[in-house]
Amino acid sequence: MDQHPLIVANWKMNKTIADAVLDFEMIKNGLENIDDIKAVICPSYVWLAPLAEIAKTHSVRQLALGAQNVSNEEKGAFTGEVSAQMLKNLVEYCIVGHSEQVAHFGESPEQTRAKVNLLLKNQITPIACVGENVKSDNSIFEVINIAKQILKDLAAPQRRAVILCYEPVWAISSNPNAQPATGGYAGKVARALSKEFPATKILYGGSVDSKNIREFTVQDSIGGALVGSASLDPKEFLEILRNA
Ligand code: PEP
Repeated sequence: MDQHPLIVANWKMNKTIADAVLDFEMIKNGLENIDDIKAVICPSYVWLAPLAEIAKTHSVRQLALGAQNVSNEEKGAFTGEVSAQMLKNLVEYCIVGHSEQVAHFGESPEQTRAKVNLLLKNQITPIACVGENVKSDNSIFEVINIAKQILKDLAAPQRRAVILCYEPVWAISSNPNAQPATGGYAGKVARALSKEFPATKILYGGSVDSKNIREFTVQDSIGGALVGSASLDPKEFLEILRNA
């Protein structure tokens, strides 16, 4: 498993093409001076091709592109959808099962599972989000149960090709009264996931910024972070990468 922290920027439905290009270039240039890290930028689908062109010129090995979602169908009459095959050779990573897809579009663990399988078939690393809505004594059980539903068809080598991201919904900054999990708590859940899925890389996501990133990356069980709002400012994102 790659030991460098993997820091994923989820830009969600933000940025014009001009901002996306400018910010991507700034991150790319800044990364030249930051070793031992891998940064994945997940812009809107429509900015992937132009950013992939920029990534190719004087490519920086610490930088990769990711998609924010993919269809759970292989191909066909699915208006508005984008298939894993279409993303092949354009992205290295793809987020699936994000809590906003679950909350707003009803994505089920079965659909996330289908997405994971299609991504692996197309040599794209899935970043599968798992997390509980409300923190309780049952949280760890709940999170492991979601992960089991998503990964259940996969043999051990395929499981190792998947990244799991522990994203407690109560910690995601777009939710009212969101609070980041403590490093200790996130580390505990990540350890439980690692025990269940050995050799699968585990990330943490939820209100991560340049001030708290280290709290998470010092945890042995946490291999990096998924960052939403703090990734929108390229200076702040570079600071997260430096501090990780
Ligand atoms: C997210 O939505 O994946 C996320 C981690 O958001 P934020 O960092 O803004 O909490």
